[in-house]
Amino acid sequence: MSEKRKANIMIISPHPDDAEFGAAGSVARWVKEGKKVVYLICTGGEKGTSDLSVNPEDLTLLRRKEQQDAANILGVSEVIFLGYEDQGLEDTPEFRKEIVRYIRLFRPETLITADPYRRYIWHRDHRITGQVVLDAAFPYARDHLSYPDLLREGLLPHKVKEMLFWGSEHPNYYSDITDTFEQKLAALKCHHSQVGGRQFRSIARLLRERSETAAANETFNLAEAFYRAEFKW
Ligand SMILES: [Zn+2]
Repeated sequence: MSEKRKANIMIISPHPDDAEFGAAGSVARWVKEGKKVVYLICTGGEKGTSDLSVNPEDLTLLRRKEQQDAANILGVSEVIFLGYEDQGLEDTPEFRKEIVRYIRLFRPETLITADPYRRYIWHRDHRITGQVVLDAAFPYARDHLSYPDLLREGLLPHKVKEMLFWGSEHPNYYSDITDTFEQKLAALKCHHSQVGGRQFRSIARLLRERSETAAANETFNLAEAFYRAEFKW
């Protein structure tokens, strides 16, 4: 097992761009504080277009580049593309095992992903990613008899300390992004295929308003909101 690949924080994003919407300001701050952050991007996001002339293979490649550019702006150490089909995620033992594999490899204290329990209008890939990551952290990454072949590969059990979920209807944790909000916008802007052109200004305005609201009861001005669940091991 490579010591070098260990990370403090692992972000598991259903599509390229979700992590930037949900957590990029916090990522930029954590990196500045010396934490190592890695990204797992579950799907290619190849259905994310309303342009009838775009083909999915080209969009996959474009969105990989956009995601890597965004990650570079934030100082993310490594971006891993799992290559699942956009709109195709299912809660399967194979998908869960793949997440377990990376939890055991990088051994992060914190996992960050989409809230699986947001009701009604929520992308199915977001719901499923959140649920699979939660289950992967506990009990599957923790118990050595889950996926014994991973143990034989040298991937020892690992106990995550906490999970943060973006998109929660009931956030209980507000992360200070006052000094990194502009970096978040710069990273988000890399996702040209999703937020390009004239729409970016209104997205930026909306995000600022949302960040101000999230920080309303804090001592800082701008925040990303999460539901935080702590493991009491
Ligand atoms: Zn998404």
